[in-house]
Amino acid sequence: MITDFHAELALRQQQGLYRQRRIVEAVRGVELVVDGKPCLNFCSNDYLGLSQHPQLKAALQHAASQYPAGSGSAHLICGHSHVHHALEEELAAFTGREKALLFSTGYMANLGVISALCERDDWVLQDRLNHASLLDGTLLSKACLQRYRHRDMADLAAKLNKASGDVLLVSDGVFSMDGDLAPLPEMVTLAHRRPGVKNTLLMIDDAHGMAVLGQSGAGVLEFLGLSQQDVPILMGTLGKGFGSFGAFVAGSEALIELLIQKARSYIYTTALPPAVCEATRASLRLVQSETGADRRAILQQNIAYFKQSTQQLGLSLMPSDTAIQPLLIGDSQQAMAISQQLWARGVWVSAIRPPTVPKGQARLRITLSALHQRHHIDALLDALDHCLQ
Ligand SMILES: *Cc1c(COP(=O)(O)O)cnc(C)c1O
Repeated sequence: MITDFHAELALRQQQGLYRQRRIVEAVRGVELVVDGKPCLNFCSNDYLGLSQHPQLKAALQHAASQYPAGSGSAHLICGHSHVHHALEEELAAFTGREKALLFSTGYMANLGVISALCERDDWVLQDRLNHASLLDGTLLSKACLQRYRHRDMADLAAKLNKASGDVLLVSDGVFSMDGDLAPLPEMVTLAHRRPGVKNTLLMIDDAHGMAVLGQSGAGVLEFLGLSQQDVPILMGTLGKGFGSFGAFVAGSEALIELLIQKARSYIYTTALPPAVCEATRASLRLVQSETGADRRAILQQNIAYFKQSTQQLGLSLMPSDTAIQPLLIGDSQQAMAISQQLWARGVWVSAIRPPTVPKGQARLRITLSALHQRHHIDALLDALDHCLQ
């Protein structure tokens, strides 16, 4: 147990692992005022800029005048309103699944699913770079956790062969700190091909693909043409590409009914405020409309422009085609120092350090948005050029 709080904090400071919050005072597109200082935002997950869209705000305002500000209780008591129910039906249709279930956050959705489905004798196989919530859910379930090397299908196949129980195979769809995609078609094949009497279920966390990838924005599974049969458990978040708040799990009717019975992070918590769900419904309509398609196209142009320009500057990015474009630095102190220098130049890029990423792999996690214009990206490039050469 930590009893000397000061000593623990000092240690973190020494190691370059100290975490601090900045206070956002004003938001206008990607132009912010933070701690009293104007800066450009290159660290948000609001990839399409929908959190500031007038239709989301109007939906929130209108709903606030119609419904109670809070839901008043958990879904299974009296908190499940027709607004929640309608959003669930729309999310099921959007993702092409039988049913969807709302959770208050993505963190809670992952905890709820894994701890509801897995028990002590089961195995949970995870990519080494999966999100912390997937690891925490596994710890909560008491199942046997095995991590395979990042995107390494030979390592996954070996671990699948070794597993002595049923297996839940879990992966981020788009890796949150690297921006690359899981090799999903290969994973689907491996999950189906598993010999013997044991079962393998595949679960994908699409926090960073939802709203952003695929023709209609339905995420990495739409992008790769994978069905509910291929990937029976899909988790998506509503606070990133959708620009709202919350999360959902989508899959078969029986899966969703089981989660309603068993997922403790669903049962023992207050339902989302109805107005937040109305904002999400407005976002869902936009994501599937021309606005969504246009913003996805602009985002892709921004990604292409940024990648091409960094190459010209001789900076080597990690291999990613998504809005998450990390620059590997290695040392935590150095990553912090560069992030500080960028900040001094009015560019906000967060330094991501262990334990969020493996030791020795601290990085600048640059995220692009459809709201970035050329001059914003040029300002970032200029700052990177100064601070990294
Ligand atoms: C952000 C994130 C989550 C958690 O979602 P919240 O709704 O923010 O709690 C889960 N998984 C991944 C991969 C994420 O990036």
